[in-house]
Amino acid sequence: MSAKLQALRADITTLAVDAIVNAANTTLMGGGGVDGAIHRKAGRELVNECATLYGCRPGEAKITKGYKLPARHVIHTVGPVWRDGTRGEAQTLEFCYRNSLQVARAHGLRTLAFPCISTGVYGYPPEKAAKVAVDTVRAVTAEHPDAYDDITFCCFSDSDLNLYQELLAA
Ligand code: ADP
Repeated sequence: MSAKLQALRADITTLAVDAIVNAANTTLMGGGGVDGAIHRKAGRELVNECATLYGCRPGEAKITKGYKLPARHVIHTVGPVWRDGTRGEAQTLEFCYRNSLQVARAHGLRTLAFPCISTGVYGYPPEKAAKVAVDTVRAVTAEHPDAYDDITFCCFSDSDLNLYQELLAA
């Protein structure tokens, strides 16, 4: 049976899922926003493991343990920096979701939570990002109907939650 997709307003560091996805930067050594929150809660061991991974390119995804997080793993991906929409931003964002789902599948991780990748400091327009997120997760879960149980779009604002709820209802 295909995965259940849902949107939730929550702090992603509180979710006890198989893996939370981190909107990281290319160094993987921590930063602001959701990345900072994940590193603070996971503790120093996370940055130590990240240091062994030699960074991450935009659109790629790499996995670590979750350490002190309630989530068992963290899948780190790097979203595109939004310029004007003509620099391949949508394709890079799609790769973030595709590659994160692929890494999860390869590790048998069935419950996942995504933040709204790139919509903070990286400036991606939230409604465009939400459409890429929902379309891509729907496509991948349809391609692999037995691979996932629950996929949560973890929103940090009511406006993002509204966007996802509308898209998921359509
Ligand atoms: P990016 O650099 O990819 O834009 P940000 O961390 O700046 O990443 O923002 C990505 C999204 O994560 C934004 O929608 C932001 O509001 C949200 N966010 C920030 N902190 C958290 C958190 N603790 N849990 C879930 N989402 C968060």
